[in-house]
Amino acid sequence: MNNPKRCPLYKKCGGCQIHNMDYEAQLDFKMKKVVRLLGRFHYVENIIGMDNPYHYRNKVQAAFGRDKQNRIISGVYQSSTHRIVPVDNCLIEDKKADEIIVTIRKLIKSFKLGTFDENKMVGFLRHVLVKRGFASGEIMVVLVTGTEEFKSKRSFINALLERHPDITTIVQNINNKRTNLVLGEKMITLYGDGVIKENLCGYTFTISPKAFYQINPVQTEILYNKAMEFADIKKSDIVIDAYCGTGTIGIIASKYAGHVYGVELNKDAVRDAKKNAKLNNIENIDFVNTDAGRYMVNIADEGLKADVVIMDPPRAGSDIKFLKSLVKLSPKKVVYISCNPETLARDLMFLSKNRYKIRKIQPVDMFPHTEHVECAALLEFNPKR
Ligand code: SAH
Repeated sequence: MNNPKRCPLYKKCGGCQIHNMDYEAQLDFKMKKVVRLLGRFHYVENIIGMDNPYHYRNKVQAAFGRDKQNRIISGVYQSSTHRIVPVDNCLIEDKKADEIIVTIRKLIKSFKLGTFDENKMVGFLRHVLVKRGFASGEIMVVLVTGTEEFKSKRSFINALLERHPDITTIVQNINNKRTNLVLGEKMITLYGDGVIKENLCGYTFTISPKAFYQINPVQTEILYNKAMEFADIKKSDIVIDAYCGTGTIGIIASKYAGHVYGVELNKDAVRDAKKNAKLNNIENIDFVNTDAGRYMVNIADEGLKADVVIMDPPRAGSDIKFLKSLVKLSPKKVVYISCNPETLARDLMFLSKNRYKIRKIQPVDMFPHTEHVECAALLEFNPKR
C-alpha cells in the first residue's frame, strides 16, 4: 500500500528508504527482517510502532549553499553526493526546527552574510543544526560557519530570537576544513548556555552540540523502559552500561541497582555523562573513559563481578574481545540494545554458543519511513553446560 502522506523529495533525498509503503506495511517489513535475522534464536515479540510516525526527529541538520541561479538554498545532501536537495519541511523532522532553518535562510539573505562554497572553501554559513528537547521545550541552534568573523552578529541573533523566542541557546561552530563532518572543533556560545536540557524516563539530561543523543525521544523512552524490564535489576546488583554515551541508560538503571559502571570511548560523552549523574544527584554510578572491550578484559582479569551488563554498541556491533570477556565475566543477564539486527545476529550467535540463552527479542521502530530497526534482546547465563 502506498503512503498516504507522500514526500515529493522521496527519491532525491534518499533518507526515507521505505517511505513508499504505508506505516503498517513498514512495520510488517521490519518485523520480517528481524524474524529473518533473529528468529532462529528466539520468538520475536511484535514490533512496537509509533502512534504518530511523523515529525519524530529531535535533531535536524541542513546544509547551506546556492542553486544554479545562485539563490541561497538549504536542505539535505542527495545520497552519497554533496549536491543539496532543497528542503523546507520534512515529514520526519521536527516542524519547529524546519521553521527555524527557513527563517535563517531568509535572514542570511537579508543580512547579506552569504553561504560557504565547498569547492572554493570560502564563505560564511555552511550548515545549521537544530536540537529540540521535546519534553523540556528547550531549543539549540548551531550555526556552522566557514569563518569566525560574523558580520552584524548581534543584530542577526536578535532578529532570529525575535522570530523564534523559544530558542534557548545559539552556538557558532567553525568548520573551515574539507570534511564530511558537519561540526568543526571550535564552538562559540552566542546566546544562552550552549547546551539544552531534556527529560527522559524521569531524569534530566544535558545535550551538547556534539554529543550523541537518541533522535526519537518518544520511542527511546519505550525502548529504555523495555530494557529495564528485561534487566530486572535488584538492589544488590552491579550493573555495567557498556557503550554508555552520555550515560542515559546507566542513570536510568541506577535507581534499581547497587552500583552502575558506565564505559564509553568518547571523552566528551564521558564528561557529559558525569555532569548528567551530578545533575540528577546520582551517587551510585561511575564512568570510565576507555574502549568497552578493553574495560571488560581488565575487569574479567581482575576477577571482578557484574550481575547485569546492558550494552548499546554502534551499528558495527560489539567485538570479539568484548564478547569473550563478557563470557568470562558471565553476568546473570545481558541486555543487548542494537540499531543493526545484522550485527546483533552475529553477536548473538557467538553468545548463544558460549553459555548464553536468548530469552527475549523486542524490535522497536525508532526510525519510521527508514529501513532501520532497533532491537532489545535479553540473554541469560546458563551455568549448566
Ligand atoms: N547508550 C547511549 C549511546 C549509544 S551510541 C545512548 O543511548 O545514548 C553508541 C556509543 O558507543 C557511542 O557513544 C560511541 O561513542 C560509543 N563507542 C563506540 N565504540 C566504542 C568502544 N569501542 N568502546 C566504548 N564505547 C564505544
